[in-house]
Amino acid sequence: MVRSPRPGRRRLLLALGGVLALAACGAPPGGLDLWKSSTIRQAKERGRLIVALEPEFRPFEYIDEGGNLVGFDVDLCEILRQELNVERVEFLRVNFDVIISTLLSGEADLIVSGMTALPERALRVSYSDPYFHTVTCLLVSRERAADVRSVAELDRPERVVAVKQGTTGEIAARKRCPRARLVSFPTENAAALEVASGRADAFLYDKKSVEQHHARHPDTTFLILDPVTVEPYAIACRKGDPDTVAWLNLVLHHLRRDGRLEELYAKHGLEDSGDGPR
Ligand code: GLN
Repeated sequence: MVRSPRPGRRRLLLALGGVLALAACGAPPGGLDLWKSSTIRQAKERGRLIVALEPEFRPFEYIDEGGNLVGFDVDLCEILRQELNVERVEFLRVNFDVIISTLLSGEADLIVSGMTALPERALRVSYSDPYFHTVTCLLVSRERAADVRSVAELDRPERVVAVKQGTTGEIAARKRCPRARLVSFPTENAAALEVASGRADAFLYDKKSVEQHHARHPDTTFLILDPVTVEPYAIACRKGDPDTVAWLNLVLHHLRRDGRLEELYAKHGLEDSGDGPR
């Protein structure tokens, strides 16, 4: 005997059938709306991609002698522009501590600014796969901290640790040196100068930058290169936009496989630390 489902059950099965039929047509509920509102589609329609960055982070984004905005991230954005086939990239220059709010307010489409993908940041923005891997370490003052050998030795009330506002260096310093006095600056130059002039013991920041500041102040500073944190750099976009994340990852996949990413590292004197901290 064939038993027909009870009336309540029947309604449920009918509803389920409807959902499956829609899915089979390739138009799951909400799918088209997501695509319509996606950042890459909107940038494409507007003919211009708007990128937020903080232009004092050599060699990723900085102003050259001729006054032009240049760097690894600027070149990466030019590739995104070509792949999206839009007319131009507009760069929105902001301080790093407001870069996430600039994205969330809708003023910018993406953040491409040597930004580290952190789990806590990823609760506010979405990240592409990393396009570069590095670490944070220490630029140390010879005058004030000649005896310091590690980040742990900076965790004392008499120590002064300089950081750049809103960066992973600042987050790490709060965690690793809670007893030290933290002084935070809007730019890395200001933080590095604080160490070079002997007003702070150390500056905790991304490796490539502290190396450059040490090269500029070789007599007054030294480096402690033991990694304090690992720093995978990634592109950020607003949350709830799977098409943009997938598209960015696909572009990065091609760049990695066809050699263009390696070329960009070489052009800007960078070495990706890949699987391990370096
Ligand atoms: N990578 C660091 C961060 O994400 C610093 C980035 C920067 O100063 N541009 O906080």
